[in-house]
Amino acid sequence: MATATLTIDLDAIAANWRGLDQLSAPGTQTAAVVKADAYGLGVARVARALAQAGARRFFVAVAEEGVALRQALGPGPQIAVLGGHMAGDAELIRSLDLTPMLNSIDQITRHLETLPGHGFGLQLDTGMNRLGLERAEWEAVAALVLDAGPELVMSHLACADEPDHPLNMAQLVEFHAMTDGVGVPRSLAATGGILLGPEFHFDLTRPGIGLYGGLPHAAGYPVVSLSLPVIQLREVAAGEAVGYGCAHVAEAPALIATLSGGYADGLLRSLSGNATFWAGDVPCPLVGRVSMDLITVDVSHLEAVPDALDLLGPYQGVDDLAAAGGSIGYEILTGLGPRYARRYAGRGA
Ligand SMILES: *Cc1c(COP(=O)(O)O)cnc(C)c1O
Repeated sequence: MATATLTIDLDAIAANWRGLDQLSAPGTQTAAVVKADAYGLGVARVARALAQAGARRFFVAVAEEGVALRQALGPGPQIAVLGGHMAGDAELIRSLDLTPMLNSIDQITRHLETLPGHGFGLQLDTGMNRLGLERAEWEAVAALVLDAGPELVMSHLACADEPDHPLNMAQLVEFHAMTDGVGVPRSLAATGGILLGPEFHFDLTRPGIGLYGGLPHAAGYPVVSLSLPVIQLREVAAGEAVGYGCAHVAEAPALIATLSGGYADGLLRSLSGNATFWAGDVPCPLVGRVSMDLITVDVSHLEAVPDALDLLGPYQGVDDLAAAGGSIGYEILTGLGPRYARRYAGRGA
């Protein structure tokens, strides 16, 4: 089989959700962010595992992502749309019972006009300057909008993965100033915000990356492992070059394994010459450039070359790999492409 295998541990995802839920202040509900196909891991299987673990509220980025999610969850669990109510979304929002988080006066107007009486939430900007109503806009419309009965008011922290960053406290203060006394459930924290402590938790937390084994949730269980099959082995002589651009030249006779997988599968080209594969517990250096579908690895030191080498596993997690490629765990996970055979492990599988 020339397809690389991505194994996703649904029990680890469920355990990570429970772990983050236990970190939350008493009375705080823990939602689950499953945008971008559950960070690349497959929204249907992941969301069902999270629902079994106890999650009742889910967040996606755009209304279209609600289609597969509603199909997986059935009626009941809330599906909130972070991007809000975009032009042309009314029918999807209505038929799938999605809850848009309205981000602007335009979105509020659109929602109240096209779907009066349909549930919604509000996103406020407290300093990230990306999405949501700013303080002056909010003050101008708050009375009217609160009268329409929002289900949630939320904001998002820009620097929650840096606990000492002064913006965290500034955003907390601004969120209080904008929402104290509104009488609507409130949400400020994603994974990083949960770890900042209970004053950031309010009524609902929205973890994403921490469910999938990524930092900053260092206490989380690893979720993914990735194995790339060896397609061909070849001996190269000292002085021979390997791959595009002759980027690697063997200093001594070497045994090179060519693996199935490349940058089209989310294995960043910036990993060229920097990453390590594993044969069990033995490290094997990636040599030469990562190409679209293939990667070359020096396996000269192995007594026997296995059928596949591991890129993500017990010795190297998503954040380790991200560091080798100059990226972050989020980008590694969401870049994992459609060509992998996704295998699900765990009781929920
Ligand atoms: C992506 C996102 C989350 C989840 O963030 P993590 O850092 O992955 O926990 C929560 N809220 C909003 C608004 C987001 O965009």
